[in-house]
Amino acid sequence: MTTVFGKIRDLVSSFLRSSESYEEAVNSFIRELQKEMIKADVNVKVVFELSARIKERALKEEPPEGVLRREWFVKIVYDELSRLFGGDVAPDPYPKSFPWIILLVGVQGSGKTTTAGKLALFYKKRGYRVGLATTDTYRPAAYDQLKQIAETIGVPFYGEKSGDPAEIARKAVATLLNEYSCDVIIIDTAGRHGYGKEESLLMEMKEIAEAIKPSEVILVIDSSIGQKAYELAKKFNEWTPIGSIVITKLDGTARGGGALSAVVATGARIKFIGDGEKLEDLEVFNPRKFVARILGLGDLESLLEKFKAIEESDEVRKRLERAIALGRISMRDIYHQLKSIKKLGPLRKVIDLVPGFSMLKLGDDMLKGSEKKIDSWIAIIESMTYDELDDPSIIDRSRVRRLAIGSGRTVNDVRELLNYYELINKMLKDLKRGKLRLKGVDLSRLGGEAG
Ligand code: GDP
Ligand code: MG
Repeated sequence: MTTVFGKIRDLVSSFLRSSESYEEAVNSFIRELQKEMIKADVNVKVVFELSARIKERALKEEPPEGVLRREWFVKIVYDELSRLFGGDVAPDPYPKSFPWIILLVGVQGSGKTTTAGKLALFYKKRGYRVGLATTDTYRPAAYDQLKQIAETIGVPFYGEKSGDPAEIARKAVATLLNEYSCDVIIIDTAGRHGYGKEESLLMEMKEIAEAIKPSEVILVIDSSIGQKAYELAKKFNEWTPIGSIVITKLDGTARGGGALSAVVATGARIKFIGDGEKLEDLEVFNPRKFVARILGLGDLESLLEKFKAIEESDEVRKRLERAIALGRISMRDIYHQLKSIKKLGPLRKVIDLVPGFSMLKLGDDMLKGSEKKIDSWIAIIESMTYDELDDPSIIDRSRVRRLAIGSGRTVNDVRELLNYYELINKMLKDLKRGKLRLKGVDLSRLGGEAG
């Protein structure tokens, strides 16, 4: 992956170490970032919009406590780049039904046959019974190429050296299904048409698709075509609702960034990326992970952890502020808080981050039982029905017993949680009525914000 945005990682570390003023450093970072993006063939307009957003946030946003301004800038760049490459969508590569039939299409040389092998290995490693087939009768060596890959991986193979591709595909599915009981079937095609001839490529795809009714059609795109990938992905996306995309050769070209961002812009789903010639060189495309890597955040993991903790405690705070404003807290909020506390580790620290929380003395009771109690309350809440979550007052004696059994805890644990729920709600109510005062919490502000 070194050639895709090879320099950005260096930019980040020199930014963090630079002796320039913050503003100067931001400006030179953005300048260099633009150069790198344009070199990677990312659309110029997109590059300028991206840098404008980064700059605006960089000058406007105040980092949260405990975070250096420069660190926060890296977080901004991380967010904005992630957005460019698809944001928080992480694809689900697992079969939704059986047999799961994947039809691979794409122009010749894009990496279809290699990707067929990579996918076969990917699914085989995860315990599926995979079968490989080719309908490529166009190139004489195509049959042998995939057959050999199938042998290397150790999965059944079906192919014919001549004939009608749609008919071969139909027979391949029948054979792999009936004789080998495959549950994931991957069909490679010829894709004899070059770029710019999308229509004929899609026609070929349609004929085969009609014959075998694939579960998923995967378009293979060679990343070296850069932003030209836009047209192809767009047409493909319009043609099939069951399509996703693999971008290959991200290891071998500087234009991969252009291809990725262009495909994301069409709204098509990038499911996998290929970054090498070996069968192992395939990964599920996760935009955030991808960006973390090009930014070199893998080395700055603690920084990422810090950001995550901040986001999480922000969410906890927001929920609590709302609860204070409303004068009540729901079981769902409590659940969310317990989960966050668990994720964030040291209880005290987190609770202190939340205004009002420590003063409400919510912490102390909970702290006594530590981790174990939190686990047990989480388990109990997870056993609740929607009705119970919405209105815990309906939890009578028999429901208490059911919850205890369902969560593998004791009746006492359930009672304790319900008492806690009532106590905290009573406090919030008193607070709202002004019967209880909290030092350091400006309730009028909280009320206004939630309104
Ligand atoms: P097809 O014509 O679409 O079936 O393409 P092939 O699978 O035969 O691949 C064409 C060439 O691209 C071969 O030399 C492959 O080794 C190479 N290739 C495929 N995927 C990748 C990749 O992710 N990285 C690199 N570096 N080469 C790849
Ligand atoms: Mg091929």
